[in-house]
Amino acid sequence: MKRAKGLRLAALALGGAVLLSGCVTRTEPSVSTQIFVMDTIMSLELWEGGSQEQLNQAVEQLYQWEDLWSATDEDSEIWAADHSGGEWVTLSGDTVDLLSQALDLCRLTGGALDLTAYSAVKAWGFTTGEYRVPGEEELAALADGIDHTQVELDRDACRVRLPAGMELDLGAVAKGYAGARLAEQLREQGVTSALLNLGGNVQTVGGKPDGSPWSVGVQDPASEQVDNLLAIQVVDQAVVTSGSYQRYFQQDGQTYWHILDPETAAPARTGLASVTVVGPDGTVCDGLATALFVLGEEAGIELWRAHPELGVQVIWVREDGSVALTEGLEENYQVNPQHRGLDMTVVEA
Ligand code: ADP
Ligand code: MG
Repeated sequence: MKRAKGLRLAALALGGAVLLSGCVTRTEPSVSTQIFVMDTIMSLELWEGGSQEQLNQAVEQLYQWEDLWSATDEDSEIWAADHSGGEWVTLSGDTVDLLSQALDLCRLTGGALDLTAYSAVKAWGFTTGEYRVPGEEELAALADGIDHTQVELDRDACRVRLPAGMELDLGAVAKGYAGARLAEQLREQGVTSALLNLGGNVQTVGGKPDGSPWSVGVQDPASEQVDNLLAIQVVDQAVVTSGSYQRYFQQDGQTYWHILDPETAAPARTGLASVTVVGPDGTVCDGLATALFVLGEEAGIELWRAHPELGVQVIWVREDGSVALTEGLEENYQVNPQHRGLDMTVVEA
């Protein structure tokens, strides 16, 4: 579905309506906006060194990426790749860049992240909201059709080819990538303090204007309202959460969510309610959050220990409300006083 251009202008105008505070110690961003893009609400706050023009550019960039990567928009590059009948499809540089990083993450996670799960995502109704539970045979066939190793990406020629009938989507990585790229652009433009919340994918630029770290909340998956279990302190990092509570439906007393195990084509059930990944690269954080949710805690800890080069820290929230968190975060978190007594274990490298 195409968005009306008027919406974009309205979003820009909204951004323009936020005034400079002019205070020595800022209590508000110098410019900010909220937009609906990539199927989610995003809020962009430039706190130090940012202008309205830079904010507008970031907004326009997000809409352009959405146009390229929407799996449901018939004009997108992803749609073209998914409906090419096994032929090569030419891609723009940004799409090649994202796809290439995402496919690396599919390999690194042993296929727990698999972009080609999209046919299964559709079969469950997560793309339309017309939810259904596919039968066993259908699931087996869908699982057979998930295989990221069959995606051929030709970086030099900027083109991709999937087997006819296979479909991929970038939903598990696109917001993280967008945050990482926007942060990079803003830093280059001299922005020293910014907070981007791309639908729960948080990306920070620098720290707060006074130099102290940003405090980013990790939501209690069991709560209907926004209620943080804990907050972590970060500077220049991405904080990305994948959880079963973010998109789900219920049928016959069972809950089914939108993160699928590529081996079964069904919602990944490992006893986790959410996984949060903190690190310097938003794409890695987003891809890993999805993959670690699929893998479950034990296999996830193994993967984390095997890849110190990624520089990420992880928070696992189990379905029983208890939490495990990697040692690099030990000095950088506070439990929300309302959750005093939170059962917390520290995972060592
Ligand atoms: P969100 O988009 O809610 O922040 P994720 O980053 O975890 O959450 O991405 C979930 C989306 O990725 C799903 O909506 C679906 O389109 C797709 N997806 C689901 N399971 C997988 C998987 N195992 N690997 C890759 N993509 C997946
Ligand atoms: Mg993800």
